[in-house]
Amino acid sequence: MILSCLDDDPRMERTLRRFAGSLGHEVRFQTTSQALRDDLDRQVPDVIVLDLGLGSETGVDVLGWLAEHHPTVPLVFLSGHGDELLDTARRIAQGNGLTVYGVVNKANLVRELPTVLSRPGPPDSPKKPRAPGRAPGRALDALSVEDLRAHLHAGRITPYFQPILSAHTLRPVGAEALARLALPEGGVLGAGAFIPLAEQSGLIMELTRVLSERLIELEPQLRPFGLDFLSINLSAANIERKGAAAMVKRLVDAFAGSSRIMIELTETAVLPDLQQMRALTTELRLGGASLAIDDFGIGYSSIRALAELPYDVLKIDLSFVAEMFDSEKSANLIAAMLHMAHSLNLQVVAEGVETEAQRDRLITMGVDRLQGYLFGHPVPIEHFASPGASS
Ligand code: C2E
Ligand code: CA
Ligand code: CA
Repeated sequence: MILSCLDDDPRMERTLRRFAGSLGHEVRFQTTSQALRDDLDRQVPDVIVLDLGLGSETGVDVLGWLAEHHPTVPLVFLSGHGDELLDTARRIAQGNGLTVYGVVNKANLVRELPTVLSRPGPPDSPKKPRAPGRAPGRALDALSVEDLRAHLHAGRITPYFQPILSAHTLRPVGAEALARLALPEGGVLGAGAFIPLAEQSGLIMELTRVLSERLIELEPQLRPFGLDFLSINLSAANIERKGAAAMVKRLVDAFAGSSRIMIELTETAVLPDLQQMRALTTELRLGGASLAIDDFGIGYSSIRALAELPYDVLKIDLSFVAEMFDSEKSANLIAAMLHMAHSLNLQVVAEGVETEAQRDRLITMGVDRLQGYLFGHPVPIEHFASPGASS
């Protein structure tokens, strides 16, 4: 493998050469970014090893240049000093479409470099950006307000169910109902394809009502699962408070014999009108529902909302879970959110759990409940079963 290295500390050259050479890698060493550019223009290496503490030059400029000229060559960052910048550097690189194999501590070169270089694929390749609170959906542009209204009236909005597990028993203790649109021509649209449109067009209240009536119809089918709770999402933007409270009350009553109804509110929606949210959340609680703050950590008003509103559950946004092994900061933030939530007597759900490693670490950290593709995708009621169900 050919490694092109940039480090303004010439002492690194000997170390790298000796060690990488013993592993059979060829090292081309540069101490200035101009030298690196010249080197890359001469011959493209397999990996670029980059120290960001470049004295007078900035590593950020180097990343920008690399993204423009050699976007496909993977990077390894060397860390020594200024480690707090590495996480940001990784994000800049990924934001520019570059692949980052990992970070190697200079003091641990011997141990860490082979591991990073032997990774089978790019472990740290850029993740698709996701708009806050929205998982990807399809055909976003294709749907008009009129289409959506027609689908709504034709009863094509239907709930899918995703299990939420106890972190202690790894058994499902609840489920989240997520809206889907079953197209007449076949195919099912994810929430991302029509929820934002419903919110913007004022159809969201009607959509939520249709969904909640459908849930009431499905109560006999849900009852055998013995779920402690069933969650539904409420967009607090454009909500009509009395109507919402009445709707939730109906749902609570219909499920009185089986599961508690949990209302998930996104914190981004909390910002516009705290006064309105105080009234709404109090009414929902008085109506017998429990309350979850959804997508916690990505909005602006989260901590204020926790202080002011009567939440029972905090759902850590899945972006933190997705990054917990790539970014020390994300892992630390999860720990801090857990500490904060537990000191406020809130239960914590980690969303977007996709791997066993994430599951195990989250359990060790003290998360109460787990949700994610590892345990089950959102599925129609006919396919809803114990963990392992998938769509
Ligand atoms: P959300 O409430 O945060 O829902 C979780 C989203 O993450 C769901 O996307 C779910 O399918 C997805 N998800 C679950 N496990 C994983 C995982 O392991 N990895 C990844 N990458 N994603 C996972 P979905 O169903 O497309 O919903 C997107 C958003 O649309 C929801 O985010 C929610 O904010 C909104 N939404 C869905 N249904 C309703 C609804 O009935 N009413 C309202 N107001 N909003 C809804
Ligand atoms: Ca939710
Ligand atoms: Ca969420």
